Amino acid sequence: MNSPKEAAAPASNFLRHIVERDLKAGTYAARTFAGTPGDAAHHAGAPPDPARIRTRFPPEPNGYLHIGHAKSITLNFGLAQEYGGICHLRFDDTNPEKEEQEYVDAIIDAVRWLGFDWHAPEPALAGEPGDPARPQEATTSHLYFASDYFDFMYRAAEALVDAGLAYVDEQSADEIRARRGDFATPGQDSPFRDRTPAENLARLRQMKAGELTDGAAVLRARLDMTSPNINLRDPVIYRIKRATHHNTGDRWCIYPMYAYAHPIEDALENITHSICTLEFEDQRPWYDWLLDKLCELGLLAQPRPHQYEFARLNVTYVITSKRKLKALVDERIVAGWDDPRMPTIAGLRRRGYTPEALRLMCERAGTSKAGGWTEYASLDAALRDDLDPKAPRAMAVLDPVELRLTNWAALFGSEAHREACHAPVHPQKPELGERRFSLGPRLWIERDDFAEVPAKGFFRLFPGNRVRLKYGYVIECSGCEKDAAGQVTAVLASVVPDTKSGTPGADAIKVKGTITWVGADDCAPAEVRLYDRLFSEAQPDAGGKDFKASLNPGSLRIVTGYVEAVLANAAAEQRFQIERHGYFVTERHDHAPGKPVLNRIAPLRETWTPK
Ligand code: ATP
Ligand code: MG
Repeated sequence: MNSPKEAAAPASNFLRHIVERDLKAGTYAARTFAGTPGDAAHHAGAPPDPARIRTRFPPEPNGYLHIGHAKSITLNFGLAQEYGGICHLRFDDTNPEKEEQEYVDAIIDAVRWLGFDWHAPEPALAGEPGDPARPQEATTSHLYFASDYFDFMYRAAEALVDAGLAYVDEQSADEIRARRGDFATPGQDSPFRDRTPAENLARLRQMKAGELTDGAAVLRARLDMTSPNINLRDPVIYRIKRATHHNTGDRWCIYPMYAYAHPIEDALENITHSICTLEFEDQRPWYDWLLDKLCELGLLAQPRPHQYEFARLNVTYVITSKRKLKALVDERIVAGWDDPRMPTIAGLRRRGYTPEALRLMCERAGTSKAGGWTEYASLDAALRDDLDPKAPRAMAVLDPVELRLTNWAALFGSEAHREACHAPVHPQKPELGERRFSLGPRLWIERDDFAEVPAKGFFRLFPGNRVRLKYGYVIECSGCEKDAAGQVTAVLASVVPDTKSGTPGADAIKVKGTITWVGADDCAPAEVRLYDRLFSEAQPDAGGKDFKASLNPGSLRIVTGYVEAVLANAAAEQRFQIERHGYFVTERHDHAPGKPVLNRIAPLRETWTPK
């Protein structure tokens, strides 16, 4: 096993090899590109495609993106970046019933936040870098909608019909299913399969004109009903569906099927490497058949795109089925799509994970055809590797008990005296400066930093023991006060003179324990949301299990703590390492300077124990 630092260097993978092979062979060197896809005719006389490769991330806008999509995004945008290519963001919006603008907006947001951009320099204007005449802002947006190509897709369908390669089938859905056969049984030809192209064309036009009812007919490609690959048994390519589309409104009452639309979208956009997850492997012969036929018919130009499959990212303690995630939201098991326990990109962001950590985790998970599971812990490890070198430090007390320094007035002349303390913003980065706070006779410490009767090996506060208040004095514990129920209400200690951190006497007295604290009149109360994994089983929905049965009851615990001023006054969405407690973020929506709300992103070390 590589150390995390070694693994951070991009490892090669089979997709990188394929891209390198194609670049070396010049497979795509002859492509032309006119900018706006949608009509293959625009390629005639167009300049060469300036992108060495084109990939795409093609979400269907029917839900929020999740951690699995992050893998696909980093892979597609990452390959384009590495090899001088362009990655398109394309909404695969061929299903009018399930798609919504809300999802389109959330997806755009998530891809941007992850650090990727679908704008590329305008090829015709680019010029030499450094050339003052080079227009800096000229970029082309490569954001597309499959629905923008509906006209072309329909034209291609008519061309297939004309060539005898597609037919209108008027069997019922049940009859079509029954005649399709299965793995063991070959399919049977539809009684409508041998209509003439002229009959089919007339019928297709009636479908388009709204003269047939929903479900009365479908358009099917004409391949081979006995193929061992069921995807090639005359796949349906158009269906009748009266539904308002988020982009095309009521203009269409027939819609292309995903499997038909997707290869065409890729081809129109000059995609070179169409990367998808393994469940589409059996669709590849159809992808190839369709694009080759449309090239032969003169509707598309070679070299056409090719499809490559990789194993989807599975993360332990996480579910990624859109349907199940929606159930968590609809049944109010979580507070929404961006609940910090959700594996959606919006949820991960709100929890406090960084785009860098997500990208690092995806890179480390690797890209292969083999699949398997990625440990949830690898996400937290990536977060620590990202934040440790850069997150400012701060102190906070999450389970507070009062500590009173009983010799304060005697030592410093008055209860009102304050000792100025300072600490580095980051211990390895003096250039980031210092934080300042003050120590007085009353402070807050963690309840479990005191024990009336210490267990073996307990080096923190107990009567007679000395510890250092981090960045402050050594103190000696003298006892505690308790309420009627026996609960400790205050810990008592005295300051050991001349032991302040950073002064010449600081090291005169050696102690085994150092504790964190905040000054009682130099801190702010804060709502602290301690998040943990949403599920307590590694594979909550494996084998059709009821995923709701393994919800972790401890996935959210809210406490009121006391925090140092830097935390209380921070802007929203700032990340910190709280000493001894872990990585925290000021809550994206609920935090305001002076009214702190913090989310725990991850503890300092992996502490998860399977239940
Ligand atoms: P649906 O069942 O709604 O199609 P989906 O997860 O495939 O769900 P899409 O919006 O179609 O959602 O996905 C966009 C892209 O993200 C696809 O190319 C898909 O293969 C990829 N993707 C989805 N889940 C994962 C995953 N777990 N790992 C890697 N890639 C994924
Ligand atoms: Mg999909």
